[in-house]
Amino acid sequence: STQPTLSRVDRPKSHEAFARAKAVIPGGVNSPARAFGGVGGEPIFMARGEGAYLIDLDGNRYLDLIGSWGPLILGHAHPKVVAAAMEAAQTGASFGAPCERESELAEMVVEAVPSIEMVRMTSSGTEAAMSAIRVARGATGRNRIVKFAGCYHGHVDALLVSAGSGALTLGVPNSPGVPEGCTRDTLVLRYNDVQQLEDVFRVHGDSIACVMLEPVVGNMGLVIPTLEFRKALRELTRKYGALLIYDEVMTGFRLSYGGAQKLFNDEPDMTALGKIIGGGYPVGAYGGRQDIMKQVMPAGPVYQAGTLSGNPVAMAAGIATLTELRNHAPYTRLDQLTRKLCEGLSAAATDADIPHQINRVGSMWTLFFTPVEVNDLDSAKTSDTARFSRFFWGMMDRGFYLPCSQFEAAFVSAVTTEAEIDQLLIAAREVFSSGI
Ligand code: PLP
Repeated sequence: STQPTLSRVDRPKSHEAFARAKAVIPGGVNSPARAFGGVGGEPIFMARGEGAYLIDLDGNRYLDLIGSWGPLILGHAHPKVVAAAMEAAQTGASFGAPCERESELAEMVVEAVPSIEMVRMTSSGTEAAMSAIRVARGATGRNRIVKFAGCYHGHVDALLVSAGSGALTLGVPNSPGVPEGCTRDTLVLRYNDVQQLEDVFRVHGDSIACVMLEPVVGNMGLVIPTLEFRKALRELTRKYGALLIYDEVMTGFRLSYGGAQKLFNDEPDMTALGKIIGGGYPVGAYGGRQDIMKQVMPAGPVYQAGTLSGNPVAMAAGIATLTELRNHAPYTRLDQLTRKLCEGLSAAATDADIPHQINRVGSMWTLFFTPVEVNDLDSAKTSDTARFSRFFWGMMDRGFYLPCSQFEAAFVSAVTTEAEIDQLLIAAREVFSSGI
């Protein structure tokens, strides 16, 4: 490789595996977030997941602080999830016909999330977000959509727009291959900026189909909405007849059993889900009020479909995961454990004179290397990403697998112990005091 290897630990098998992958897979990965682009060096290839740990091809063990970017709240290969998936796989991978597991998971989602009366399964979070917008446009007969800089909703054409600091910005695509026409109706606003939201509704209110946001953002690092912002979102969308869509692909069943909206007591019109509800298998879902969801074909005219949607193996894994979360709610313990982790990290950084901010809700958190309070994309971008990269590799070499970008949230899983958090804090102190 011509890339710098910042790690002090040799991983020859990962290096070989990456070379092999690069020959036949663009960039050697099937999703850019795992390519280590933000931290330099090469991605580490994994052989196994066991509870709170990942084991790489060279046999190195890492305490996993990502959990596959959110889904694995119960850790890797949870016995009940494995048993459910295996039982389902043995009775047929896919039917191309309805099965009862689809209703069972849908009932669990409807019971858990107060604003969801009906739900449609997809195979990814991207599809869930894309379909929710289509339904919102179909239901309102309007085209414009509002998103916020720094929020990620999958690789949906109309949402691949982030720019737009400052005034109201009409969307400009930030990937080649997304025609301007696809983003012309996308308005990109600053997260937590109530004034900008009011201004855009005053000008465009009658043509806005929906406002979509992450109700706690994971995708610019963790960013928390203010109460004032959440209130303005609900009031303005109601006043102008636009739909409010919470993208809870990451936060759903993560921040509470009913997601961020249950935690905040908010009532969006529609919700996108994914990750945890599939127990680590490919799943997404979108749902909302009955009158809106009855627009979806074949109940209504808005087309949306999927060969593997409601896949029996994924449904079984999702049902097993939600059942475990409902019966043995880990949320209070996860909150305490992650608080301990974040307070410890902050104390260690302070002792080493390292300017930082830690944002956290429940078991989702980000350590930003900046002296500035982080509440939107601009403030997140003040972070020292070179320092983050040195921190990342320092932790990796000590066996702690953190997100490979300053602008991603980390996750604690329910099988993580207090002793493991203590070990992580000892390692972080070492890394901070090594002069990063
Ligand atoms: N929405 C949010 C908030 C996400 O975090 C993600 C993925 O990270 C998505 C949507 C897209 O989901 P998927 O990667 O399953 O397509």
